[in-house]
Amino acid sequence: MAKFKLEYIWLDGYKPTPNIRGKTLVKDFDSVPSLEQIPLWGFDGSSTQQAEGHNSDCVLKPVSIYPDPEVHNGVIVMNEVMHADGTPHSTNARATIHDDPDTWFGFEQEYFLYKDGQPLGFPAEGFPKEGQGRYYCGVGYGLMSSIGREITRKHLDLCLAAGINHEGINAEVAKGQWEFQIFGKGSRTAADQMWVARYLLLRLCEKYEVDINWHCKPLGDTDWNGSGMHSNFSTKFMREVGGEKYFKDLMAAFEKYLKEHIDVYGPDNDKRLTGKHETAPWNKFSYGVANRGASIRVPNSFPKNGYKGYLEDRRPNSQGDPYQIASRILETIASVPLP
Ligand code: ADP
Ligand code: MN
Ligand code: MN
Ligand code: MN
Ligand code: MN
Repeated sequence: MAKFKLEYIWLDGYKPTPNIRGKTLVKDFDSVPSLEQIPLWGFDGSSTQQAEGHNSDCVLKPVSIYPDPEVHNGVIVMNEVMHADGTPHSTNARATIHDDPDTWFGFEQEYFLYKDGQPLGFPAEGFPKEGQGRYYCGVGYGLMSSIGREITRKHLDLCLAAGINHEGINAEVAKGQWEFQIFGKGSRTAADQMWVARYLLLRLCEKYEVDINWHCKPLGDTDWNGSGMHSNFSTKFMREVGGEKYFKDLMAAFEKYLKEHIDVYGPDNDKRLTGKHETAPWNKFSYGVANRGASIRVPNSFPKNGYKGYLEDRRPNSQGDPYQIASRILETIASVPLP
């Protein structure tokens, strides 16, 4: 027997985007527990904007687990929030999303590291002397500040140790802004990993007294870039068959459902998708080969390989919910008949 520390995490009921909450349960197991061995738990929904009516007891239903790289005998337990009767809570998007294990998703999470209410490395007042230009994939203390790289590298190691498909890091266009990429097969698998990766980053940054600013345009209407979560996707059909006609039909469907996509692509996206800073205007759908100013960027290799491969929807933002984003992409794909 050993004491295991189960860190139950879940999404709260805050609008327009949820926050991650977590609490610890200590339990005896003979060896590392499997998902099936991890019990339901509960919490007080009146403190998370999840109380409905007079009954504030919510149920945590474990849905995926990860070894906790920072805790001896620790397990991170991702949960869905349920009512006591076993039905999904209204804030539980994961329970009802479209899923398909043969559709692969790659999310590029951008975010700002913040210290004392400013992007990391910004002066106490105003803006850095050096405007945008050299920060993207930049090197050197004056450009990058000292702890940004340390945080992002430690985060990478934590994700790998937790079994998350973290695929890489880059410093972004604005000072204090970074990106990591997460890949997964199926909307639930990919999105669970993104939420756990966000959780690990937040928890790591507690030690550095650094905040994550997930907002898509934290510096407002300035010449500093906003943060996206470009969502790359490929179905089995796109990878193996493809074809120009199917691609055009797919793009027509994305155009038709523009509003439905924007609705779940994260709050305040009109402030980010302005047509400037490598974005397309939020209210007009476009696509283009190698075009970083389009809603959907078609990689160079895609037409070369007979319109096969993956596509990049550049509109989802840094604060978007990957469950809902992936689900909407699958729903639009499902509306297009296969040839
Ligand atoms: P860029 O910054 O040039 O847009 P990144 O390298 O940051 O590109 O991100 C590319 C993303 O595309 C990665 O998350 C990767 O996992 C994802 N990706 C690559 N191939 C596929 C595929 N076949 N299906 C879905 N996603 C893919
Ligand atoms: Mn209590
Ligand atoms: Mn990228
Ligand atoms: Mn980027
Ligand atoms: Mn991208």
